[in-house]
Amino acid sequence: ALSIGIVGLPNVGKSTLFNALTKAQNAESANYPFCTIEPNKATVPVPDKRVDTLTEIAKPQKTLYATIDFIDIAGLVRGASKGEGLGNQFLGNIREAAAILEVVRCFEDDNITHVEGSVDPLRDIETIETELLLADIQAVEKRLDKLQRASKGDKTMRPTVEAMERLLAYLNEGKPASTFPDRKIDCLAAQFKELALLSDKKIIYCANVDEGGLLEDNAHVQRLAEFAASRGCDIVKICAKVEEELQGLDEAEAQEMLESFGISESGLVQVIRTGYHTLGLISYFTVGVKEVRAWTIRNGWTAPQAAGVIHSDFERGFIRAEVIGYNDYVQHKTEAACRSVGVLRSEGKEYIVKDGDVVHFLFNV
Ligand code: GDP
Repeated sequence: ALSIGIVGLPNVGKSTLFNALTKAQNAESANYPFCTIEPNKATVPVPDKRVDTLTEIAKPQKTLYATIDFIDIAGLVRGASKGEGLGNQFLGNIREAAAILEVVRCFEDDNITHVEGSVDPLRDIETIETELLLADIQAVEKRLDKLQRASKGDKTMRPTVEAMERLLAYLNEGKPASTFPDRKIDCLAAQFKELALLSDKKIIYCANVDEGGLLEDNAHVQRLAEFAASRGCDIVKICAKVEEELQGLDEAEAQEMLESFGISESGLVQVIRTGYHTLGLISYFTVGVKEVRAWTIRNGWTAPQAAGVIHSDFERGFIRAEVIGYNDYVQHKTEAACRSVGVLRSEGKEYIVKDGDVVHFLFNV
């Protein structure tokens, strides 16, 4: 499954945030027996009002939200790419993540040491992203070396070697792989896929503030928000400490606490939702008396691919899909009513499933 790696310098609040995510996972784990529990992975439900509405309408025995995986990646320090700290092992863990949640310290607290001596989000980001870039430079140099040797006996490899040389020069200028202009050309696409470069991953900035910072953006958050906007990246503001506390409360208490900070939704929920969208994921729904459930697919998947998420037999034996748009379903409330007013559509193999579709698959076994 696609996952989001949580990175950041020491003492910025990563573990606190990860603990909150783990508690959110454990609170729901009885409903998700199919999720394996691992110490540095949290599989958390993605809150979705549409799922709540469908649950109210269908009154099923059980409701299952979509889930998303977060991986705690500890050990990023200045010099990690040279093998300092947990070094390369840790950088390898990021490679497996599909996107990065970069936790940035935006709270002042003299009791909590900052590894660089002061709170400065933009400097911290530069430290982290320099390490990611240096790790990529090493990976590309290594690959280039191999390709150069192989190309001596095989002239067809020249274009790949030349493109990789341009990539290396680009990274050496301090620019991330994600903006490399030639990344889509055929001979590089495969290399990009295999190398899984760290500077090619989408980043979500997570500004960790103190309680006061929740009420009003402090100067650190403002600078970070400007920076994130200039990069076209999402930013989510949280107070990791508050998030951890919220996880121990019942719904009414949690709501009261959020209101005391003048917010309607916890930062954790925003982190989860932003992560889901950053990964390019969407949900379709199945609605029945037994269960209402959100299923996760990639934007652009066809009906048989979407069916395969439920069971591989559904994909193999796919006949057609009966599809109702979310709003139509909410308006008419049952499949039968949707059919009689003509908003239930019969879709074939080529149909691209849309976010929010209520789907019923028909298949051969
Ligand atoms: P990590 O090293 O990035 O995993 O950081 P931790 O989550 O262990 O946090 C380091 C210290 O900062 C701990 O003592 C946390 O309680 C504290 N901390 C985390 N988040 C906040 C916050 O939002 N405000 C304040 N004041 N302290 C925090």
